[in-house]
Amino acid sequence: MRAVVVHAGNVALQDVPQPIPAEGEVLVQIRLAGICSTDLEIIRGYAGFNGTIGHEFVGTVNGGSAKLAGKRVVGEINCVCGKCDMCSSGLSSHCRRRTVLGIQGRPGCFADYITLPEKNCLIVPDTVTDEEAVFTEPLAAAFQVLRQSKIEKRTQVAVIGTGRLGILVAQVLATTGCKLIAIGRNERTLALLDRRGIRTALAGDTQLKQDFDLAVDCTGHPDGLRIAMGMVRPRGTIVMKTTCKADHAADLTPIVVNEISLLGSRCGPFNEALNALARKAVDVSGMVTRTLPIADAIAALKLAEQPDQIKILLKVAS
Ligand SMILES: [Zn+2]
Ligand SMILES: [Zn+2]
Repeated sequence: MRAVVVHAGNVALQDVPQPIPAEGEVLVQIRLAGICSTDLEIIRGYAGFNGTIGHEFVGTVNGGSAKLAGKRVVGEINCVCGKCDMCSSGLSSHCRRRTVLGIQGRPGCFADYITLPEKNCLIVPDTVTDEEAVFTEPLAAAFQVLRQSKIEKRTQVAVIGTGRLGILVAQVLATTGCKLIAIGRNERTLALLDRRGIRTALAGDTQLKQDFDLAVDCTGHPDGLRIAMGMVRPRGTIVMKTTCKADHAADLTPIVVNEISLLGSRCGPFNEALNALARKAVDVSGMVTRTLPIADAIAALKLAEQPDQIKILLKVAS
């Protein structure tokens, strides 16, 4: 089968053996996959991962489970042991022995087929299209912000960075009715949020008040934390969504002086994300700038680096 494989900083479309599901796993034929900034970071060396990349998908179960056979599914990307101290205390996404689809110890979904534990799969409602369902994983990561911080109507929130993840985080935060502003460089993504009734500002706008209760760094850039530190009020909170290989550490003195809380934030609740897509509470349709066949995956990955692009999808099978 075809697979997009990273090895020692090189990425290539290769022919690899089709995986065989282990006990408790299903075989999923990938229909559509989404390119995420994490994939681009992995190609640059983040996480030290070699193998098939990709973790955002919608597919059809093609073996390994009678119950799910033929069903359209999305899948939780953390594959966990269920036995370690993290799993036992309800923190299974931090399982000590986890593998993570296309990121850690498990081949990813930029391929014709993947295997995944059956319990990780969620059936996609008929009202949710493939083009929407493929956003479940990053949307779940956006919902994680709501799980980690108390956000009320009067909470002043800034989303910094309106790329692929920032757009989703801003839309999820908007559902709380909080006092929200999304700050970005890309006029195209700002316009998309404007249309959703979300207040936006261009990065560098000096008119902005610098005393937000909460700032969410979605810049995907090492500078994001420094910008966020300059925006939150004393005793405020920064939620960090950026993972990137940084060559330099930011000066963290403002964290100490202003007693700022730093919250790391990764994966989130898939069921809430899928529900939000079904309810049309979040609009992802305007985010897809190109869909390319997996045969053109290398060109698609290059395109995803371009600042005028938002989400690039890979069409694998229909
Ligand atoms: Zn992702
Ligand atoms: Zn575990």
